Amino acid sequence: MEDKAISHFFKQDGAHTLAFYLNQNGYEQAKKALKELTPEDLLNQVKAANLRGRGGAGFPAGVKWGFVPQGGDKPKYLCVNADEGEPGTFKDRYIMTYAPHRLLEGIIISCFCVGINTAYIYIRGEYENVAQRLETAIDEARAQGFLGKNILDSGFDLEVYVHRGAGAYICGEETALLESLEGKRGNPRLKPPFPASIGLFQCPTVINNVETIANIPLILHHGPEWFCNQGLPKDGGTRLFGVSGPVKKPGVYELPVGASLKDLIFTHAGGMQDGKTLKAVIPGGMSAPILKPDEIDITLDGDSLMEAKSMLGSGAVIVIDEDASMLEVLRIVAEFYSHESCGQCTPCRVGNPWIRKTVKRMAEGKGRRGDIENIRRVANNILGKTLCPLGDAAALPILALTEKFKEELETSLSD
Ligand code: SF4
Repeated sequence: MEDKAISHFFKQDGAHTLAFYLNQNGYEQAKKALKELTPEDLLNQVKAANLRGRGGAGFPAGVKWGFVPQGGDKPKYLCVNADEGEPGTFKDRYIMTYAPHRLLEGIIISCFCVGINTAYIYIRGEYENVAQRLETAIDEARAQGFLGKNILDSGFDLEVYVHRGAGAYICGEETALLESLEGKRGNPRLKPPFPASIGLFQCPTVINNVETIANIPLILHHGPEWFCNQGLPKDGGTRLFGVSGPVKKPGVYELPVGASLKDLIFTHAGGMQDGKTLKAVIPGGMSAPILKPDEIDITLDGDSLMEAKSMLGSGAVIVIDEDASMLEVLRIVAEFYSHESCGQCTPCRVGNPWIRKTVKRMAEGKGRRGDIENIRRVANNILGKTLCPLGDAAALPILALTEKFKEELETSLSD
């Protein structure tokens, strides 16, 4: 098996089973970590690999783990963020469906490194089949001695639990996730304090995305240098990109960090369906500002997308063709964020529904002169003025859409 890429596990019969994974030398890296390496060795390897978080923020995983205070009498927790609620995002579902043991092996190594004995996988409620698959994998791993008490006679204990969310987008935000996991309404917390020091049940907590954790066995197997060389010097490895929209081959593609967005769409995903013309691309999930066709000759890494005033986000590439109405795109974006606001802070709670109502009126053919300017004014009053990132996630795509497609949107204004 060529095992450099997670996607090599995809879509093979029985790939999700323990027997398959063991046959691919699965859990060998967990054994090595527990029996031959110290937590310090592991942390140094993850830092040297330059593994950045794959959930959206792109924070270096090793640095995040290093923030967790050692010692003390409080337990520590790992929360794997499998909420995957960002519209357009479906890559973590592939990992959990086809390589659940890869994720579990990553969890074991991560927990051993940070000194954690309890891990939660917080999965969106809509992924019921995937949650069941994870639970089966956990049972298999426990029966084989990879989870539970005294794993592989190492003296290390670890339990992993699957927790289903209830469908709120905001619970993908790390502190809202913690509130939800504690059985409360998923309202984001003020930061600081950060979860690394005061997280789940007021204890030190690491929160990482599924894909981030699934990369850990690869780093150990091949070494941090190999991993680093797969991507860019400050952003190692490969990434999974979910391509949706009217392309010939929508799906999940694994490419090195720094691959070309244009190639992803026109080579890997086969280009546009039915000879249609590309109109726009949302490169990192719905909250990423939209790009026009002349802006997609760009590499897929956090820094390049930031330079283009967009975001790599969760690697969800949404392709839009000439038939799409940008007013309808704007309406969907406004509707979504208005619905998902938790209501804790005024700019988000009041501003997003106001934008939604205005765009809805425009979509009904009752748009008025000044609507677009007012939408932009309200979006600017949300941007950077809220408690959690949902405010920016709503304002940024609305500002980009109303700037780049202003002319088209103006055609909906009646007076
Ligand atoms: Fe809630 Fe919106 Fe404020 Fe986030 S920005 S805390 S979702 S009201």
